[in-house]
Amino acid sequence: MSQRYDYVMAGGGAAGLSLAYHLVQAGHTDKQILIIDLEEKRNNDRTWCFWIDRPFLFDPIVHRRWSHIWFHGPHRSHRFALNPYEYRMIRGEDFYRYTREALVASANVTFLNAAVTEIVDGDVAAGTPAQVVLSSGETVEAEWVFDSLFLPRDFVVDEARYRFLKQHFVGWTIRTAEASFDPAAATMFDLRIEQNGAFRFMYILPFSEREALVEYTFFSTDLLDRETYEAGIRSYIETYLPGVSYEIVEDESGIIPMTDQPFPRHGGQRIMRTGTKGGRVKASTGFAFLRTQRDSERIVRSLEKHGHPFAVPAPPRRYGTFDAMLLSILDRTPDRGRDIFVKLFEKNPLPRIWRFLDEDAGLVENLKLMASVPWGPFIAAWFDVRLRRMRRQKGE
Ligand SMILES: Cc1cc2nc3c(=O)[nH]c(=O)nc-3n(C[C@H](O)[C@H](O)[C@H](O)COP(=O)(O)OP(=O)(O)OC[C@H]3O[C@@H](n4cnc5c(N)ncnc54)[C@H](O)[C@@H]3O)c2cc1C
Repeated sequence: MSQRYDYVMAGGGAAGLSLAYHLVQAGHTDKQILIIDLEEKRNNDRTWCFWIDRPFLFDPIVHRRWSHIWFHGPHRSHRFALNPYEYRMIRGEDFYRYTREALVASANVTFLNAAVTEIVDGDVAAGTPAQVVLSSGETVEAEWVFDSLFLPRDFVVDEARYRFLKQHFVGWTIRTAEASFDPAAATMFDLRIEQNGAFRFMYILPFSEREALVEYTFFSTDLLDRETYEAGIRSYIETYLPGVSYEIVEDESGIIPMTDQPFPRHGGQRIMRTGTKGGRVKASTGFAFLRTQRDSERIVRSLEKHGHPFAVPAPPRRYGTFDAMLLSILDRTPDRGRDIFVKLFEKNPLPRIWRFLDEDAGLVENLKLMASVPWGPFIAAWFDVRLRRMRRQKGE
């Protein structure tokens, strides 16, 4: 007979571990939790950055905090103080270790290193559980399955109806022979580089005066070969840190989906999709870590209040429209992207931008922000988004 759990995390990456951690922190120690992942998750396979204006559950493993950011447009550079916000960074390996240590110490949590091949829904009314099938042929039963098994290659894109871009990047952590970086300020956008038909920028996280992650980032449809990203980083260093000698101490790369195509939360009556698979990646920025933490809190609250995980509030619909408009602009007229980001950062106080991106701001504040960006491309994008919506409604 297969073993039965209350909650099965299918995928023990950011979403699976976060939700399990939030559950245990909230005192759900009477529930049996199983976390299944292909990998043991001990590598530093990614780093997560996010802006925040308050103490946070994972503050003990924050690796770096920046009180300022740099924004470089083609003509002007700005060094902004973030106060009351900070830009914080957590290393993947620290997050995996910290959550695992806390979770294994809780007698109700089990880790399983295995591949999930299928998740079969249960029936709530009939009281039958969901079944999680493993590559060994074994199954486990679950009252609720939280499915974060997202593989970009399996994601079916409906290109006729939605925009689909990718945030793709390669970064080098470099150590320089002499002091080269401003350690108090992360560079969110360096848009001084030529755009050449694809929205691109350099993103820099300085760890000291002599060490920083320098990441060449694109929001576009097509991926590039590794050498193109690396040549871009090399040329950037030669141009903006002339004469500096450096060694590469680590590298990182990634692809994050950016689309207005919906990611349905329900995978079935007993299956809730979380993380990237559950649409937690903000379509216009690729940020997901803090959104995943908020989502975990809301899922825990829903379980406590309603006995099921699905009562999580959705943000106002207009945020989906803003995201879709920006994707439309970056897809159809990528060279307009730079001007939009320059206006956004030069004409708005930072907290207004953060609240907008966090989907926390009211309508009036949203309108103030939208009034600061060039209208032409947004009007064209609004028509494009409407047209695609109408086509979807007509079933075309
Ligand atoms: C390199 C990189 C950097 C990022 N940086 C940021 C950032 O700075 N800030 C931010 O907010 N967001 C960032 N993101 C976006 C987002 O926060 C991360 O992608 C986040 O890890 C998504 O969480 P997840 O749980 O959905 O996916 P993952 O963390 O990828 O977890 C999915 C898990 O499922 C497992 N899995 C897959 N298939 C199976 C299977 N068949 N059986 C069992 N297990 C399986 C995988 O091994 C993996 O552990 C970044 C993403 C990447 C790729």
